[in-house]
Amino acid sequence: MIPIVESAADSLVEGELARVRRCADPRCHRVFLDGTKNGLRRWCDMGTCGNRAKAARHRARTVTRP
Ligand SMILES: [Zn+2]
Repeated sequence: MIPIVESAADSLVEGELARVRRCADPRCHRVFLDGTKNGLRRWCDMGTCGNRAKAARHRARTVTRP
């Protein structure tokens, strides 16, 4: 019984590790656990890094306009 439990725990840990992501913000070196179903989360925190990326995109759009 114990080996089965152990292998189940191992695959659980492997599944968790596969979800560990690096934050998409180059200035941020945090890693986070992607809890989304499709695994498309990009930032450690939407309130800080996600917002910053959104603001930077917006700035780039408005600045390049003549
Ligand atoms: Zn971040």
